[in-house]
Amino acid sequence: MLRPKTQEEIELLRINGELVSKTLAEVGKNVAPGVSTKQLDRVAETFIRDHGAVPNFLGYDGFPASICTSVNDVVVHGFPSDYILREGDIVSVDLGTLYKGYNGDSAYTFPVGEVSAEVRKLLDVTKESLYRGIAAAVAGNRVGDIGHAVQSYAESFGFGVVRELEGHGIGTDMHEDPGVPNYGRQGHGPKLVDGMVICIEPMINAGNRGVYLAKNGWAVHTSDHKPAAHYELTVVVRHGKAEQLSTFDYIEKDPSINF
Ligand code: MG
Ligand code: MG
Repeated sequence: MLRPKTQEEIELLRINGELVSKTLAEVGKNVAPGVSTKQLDRVAETFIRDHGAVPNFLGYDGFPASICTSVNDVVVHGFPSDYILREGDIVSVDLGTLYKGYNGDSAYTFPVGEVSAEVRKLLDVTKESLYRGIAAAVAGNRVGDIGHAVQSYAESFGFGVVRELEGHGIGTDMHEDPGVPNYGRQGHGPKLVDGMVICIEPMINAGNRGVYLAKNGWAVHTSDHKPAAHYELTVVVRHGKAEQLSTFDYIEKDPSINF
């Protein structure tokens, strides 16, 4: 399972990575007070299908929607619903695509209007922890180096690193080996090989790292009900520097999107 991808496979994963990146931006254009998370789901599903792909989350293990919308104390796997976003909320949007037999998977946490200074810090630190993880995703390193990079950065701000969920390889399946935890020890875990494609996705809590599963069996909440953030990108492990297959540029270079 830990074989590197061929260049042909990487190109198909890149097409998916581009589409998830553009879909996240399309969703981001619609995040605002007064909008329901169900509306965001419709925006994403329409955009993905209009581009000839399929939302791979829909029906995955019975998941009922095309995207996960996780508001405030929901870490991940929130169902889109009639909940109306309010000023000061944050909403993590996680989504994926299936195109020509390969998968895309990325996530971004959007502020709704103005957020508190504490929440702003949580967003900034979580995103930076992802980039630190990506910087460690180079050939010759081990999976534990990625987790260590994420964990040591996030914990230095007193934030909690969720351990119950992790990043993953990606290819013809959305979730492939290796698992990519957001904590770990340097020099431990499976070796990273040039051409491996992985999703790195820190889930960071403003408070402690404890989480629990909601009664619906999906939504993961923080135990202390403080907010959590989640960012995810897909990268190819390379010598020297990982290559990103998805990007937040479509979000962060669009002046109409609040991020
Ligand atoms: Mg995801
Ligand atoms: Mg993922």
